[in-house]
Amino acid sequence: VETVHVIGGGLAGSEAAWQLATRGVPVVLHEMRGGGGTTPAHQTEQLAELVCSNSFRSDDADYNAVGLLHAEMRALNSLIMRAADGAKVPAGSALAVDRDMFADAVTAALSQHPLIRIERGEVGTPDPSWKRMLIATGPLTSPGLAAFIQGLTGEEHLAFFDAIAPIVHADSIDMGIAWRQSRYDKGPDGEILPQGEGDYINCPLSKAQYLEFVAALNAAEKADFKEWERDTPYFEGCMPIEVMAERGPNTLRFGPMKPVGLRDPRTGRGAWAVVQLRQDNASGTLMNIVGFQTKLKHGEQTRLFRTIPGLENAEFARLGGLHRNSFIRSPILLDETLRLKVATEISFAGQITGCEGYVESAAVGLMAGLFLAARAKGDEPVRPPRDTALGSLLAHITGEAVADSFQPMNINFGLFPAIEGAERGRERKAKIAARAKRALEGWLGLVG
Ligand code: FAD
Repeated sequence: VETVHVIGGGLAGSEAAWQLATRGVPVVLHEMRGGGGTTPAHQTEQLAELVCSNSFRSDDADYNAVGLLHAEMRALNSLIMRAADGAKVPAGSALAVDRDMFADAVTAALSQHPLIRIERGEVGTPDPSWKRMLIATGPLTSPGLAAFIQGLTGEEHLAFFDAIAPIVHADSIDMGIAWRQSRYDKGPDGEILPQGEGDYINCPLSKAQYLEFVAALNAAEKADFKEWERDTPYFEGCMPIEVMAERGPNTLRFGPMKPVGLRDPRTGRGAWAVVQLRQDNASGTLMNIVGFQTKLKHGEQTRLFRTIPGLENAEFARLGGLHRNSFIRSPILLDETLRLKVATEISFAGQITGCEGYVESAAVGLMAGLFLAARAKGDEPVRPPRDTALGSLLAHITGEAVADSFQPMNINFGLFPAIEGAERGRERKAKIAARAKRALEGWLGLVG
């Protein structure tokens, strides 16, 4: 069986190495920490270091998407989940861990596995003799390897910053106030669309509402950039809305809130300003607020964006943010099993594929490990069913997300296939979770 080289011993690389080795595939795990390299966020030489919070978020598999992902990973003998369960600290229904105990357990399990060799040192350009490799170098991929990836993918397909506009569950938008229309009623090929059609959902603001919104933005609490984030260039085309608002009362109205070419069907007239939402996933369950990337604190975002007419009861699948974050445009670059289409000997996993968070990164590492283990043994990999949390995360990364606006995302119920029936809220989540559990059963039989 061929050796797989895993680059990056973080959450994803550690899980992938474990899945490969436990399936009998030899692994060399390359980690630059402990070999002269580090990132601006890591502080130790341990594998799977948690760089910030010690929480794996909700552990509720019946009503919560990340809790469901935990359960699916446990069913697949995940090392990250096993180490987390063993290092658990009290945190209500969340799974939080003692970070040192957690990382020690992962490091020990991988160091002791007879099929895993850990090599400390930065991989700049991978050795051309490596037949199979997995790049799992995370949001702070070293500059040398980032340059190599850019060479493979094209410069425009590797981002160094995420610029995330908030994403709203489509069914929480009040369509009694908001309406569907594309600017000037133009369809994708320049044709004129009938009323009520169009790719955008529009939320109207009167002059008074707009001025109040701008004033509230100016007064809202912002999150700071970290020292090491300040030098990374990012402002091209992704200015935070609060920075625009500071420039003058009309800047937003000539920017992302411009009302031209739109007419409120309730009044038959244009609005003073318009907030637009555009579909964010293939099934249309998620909508992003166009041009609303922001560094506002999360609580402030929820409070402020719910003052927008039509978004009073908006449920957010994710809030906006701007961080240093290396990630590739996976929906067009990767195939269905996380291989780079232009160089199939190279696979990707973890946050660099455009998922977000410890659990999601480890989950993508788990899937990459399974797929590579199958290939190393000459078998065809089997993807997880689309109805599972794993399958939904994978579908988002490998094709269903809109490539042009692709930004890292946590697992959430909006990524699952829509469910029949009129249930909402907890009932709907429970139904999706139950369906996922049924779907996982059959697949487990196939992948072991
Ligand atoms: P990582 O865990 O970062 O692992 C990548 C590994 O690759 C690192 O060990 C790195 O040293 C190594 N590496 C990089 N380049 C090379 C190279 N060229 N050669 C060899 N090794 C290399 N997520 C949460 O869920 N909760 C949080 O609170 C949270 N806070 C965060 C705070 C910050 C400042 C950052 C940057 C991220 C945060 N994240 C958080 C996201 C979290 O870091 C990731 O989701 C997760 O760690 C990603 O896992 P990964 O395996 O893809 O990358």
